[in-house]
Order: sequence, then structure tokens, then C-alpha cells
Amino acid sequence: MKISEILENYSVEIATLENHYDWVKTNARDIDLETEMHLVFKLDKIMHYFRDLYKFSGVSSNNIYWNLTEIPIRAMLIPITQRRYQTIINPKYLELTGKEINTVEACGSVSDHKNYVVKRRPYVLISGYTLGKKHIELEYGSKDYDAGEYLILFSYHHREWIIQHEMDHLTGTTIEDTGILFNFNSLIYDKIKDKV
Ligand SMILES: [Zn+2]
Repeated sequence: MKISEILENYSVEIATLENHYDWVKTNARDIDLETEMHLVFKLDKIMHYFRDLYKFSGVSSNNIYWNLTEIPIRAMLIPITQRRYQTIINPKYLELTGKEINTVEACGSVSDHKNYVVKRRPYVLISGYTLGKKHIELEYGSKDYDAGEYLILFSYHHREWIIQHEMDHLTGTTIEDTGILFNFNSLIYDKIKDKV
């Protein structure tokens, strides 16, 4: 099935806190690998489509509303290497460790693309399944990484934080729940204050 047909037939759109609040806030359910792979193949196409369109650094099924399932199913499109993206089915944390880091993040499902300061861990190990139903483990970041108290503005280059952002989505959690609203102007203002 072509992406244009999928988008037309299943009421597909980006789910936000405004248009599909419950969808964004719902804990996604596990996918039955024996009977539900047809759903995953469609979702994979949709997530790739929106990632390319909006240059998202990751996509979870909670970001994408459709009328094929009652609630979101547990899948996310994440960077496997710096350039290659892959859909991971039923992902789970095996490890999430290291000293907390303050990252600045925005989200396609949260109003006006506001920025939030969110605490992330520097090391993450997850398991899940590929579209070929192969069980895999993926490791990101470093346990020793210490950014101190500084804010990390370009968090999208760090795959370990993208993974945590998308894993949060699958439990119905957004940066609005876990973060503090951040205003770039305040950063500029603080810099000016330092100089006068
Ligand atoms: Zn998001």
C-alpha cells in the first residue's frame, strides 16, 4: 500500500496535545508479533514519511494518530547509527544510567514547539524487535559522560537522548510533563546582564 493511500484511508495526522490529547497521553500497548505485523509495516511507512517531512529526530507511535487501532501501539522510529533510522517494535529499557544532564528539547506533539529543559541520562541500553521480528539490543552514549550543570542546547545530535524522548512518548509522557519551560531569550538576557 502506498503512503498516500495509507494517509487517506486511516485518518492519519500528527497527534498533538491540542488535537488528540488522549492519544498522546496514553500508554502504548505491546504489539503481537504473530498477528499484528501488518499494522507495524503501515506505521513504519507513516513514521518515515513524517520524519522526512518535518525533519524529526525521532518518531513514536504516540506522535501519529490513526484510526487503525484504539490506542497507540508500541513502536518507534529511532536512529540506529548517526544517519540510519529504523523502526523498533516493543522496545524496553535494559539500562538507563549515568549522571543526569540538562538538555533542551522541543516536540512535534507539544504546543507551538516550545522548548523545555529535560533531565536525561548519558547511557541507555534497550531491547526490541526489528521489522523482520529479529530480537536486538541497542546501546547508546557513555556511562562516564558528565556535562556538569550546563544546558545542552543541541541535544538532537545525541541519540541516547532521542531514545529517551521517544521511550517517554510510549508511556504517554511528554517533555511538558517532565521538563521546565525554557525561553531562549532568557539565556540571551542573562548573557547581557553578565556584561553590564
Ligand atoms: Zn516528542
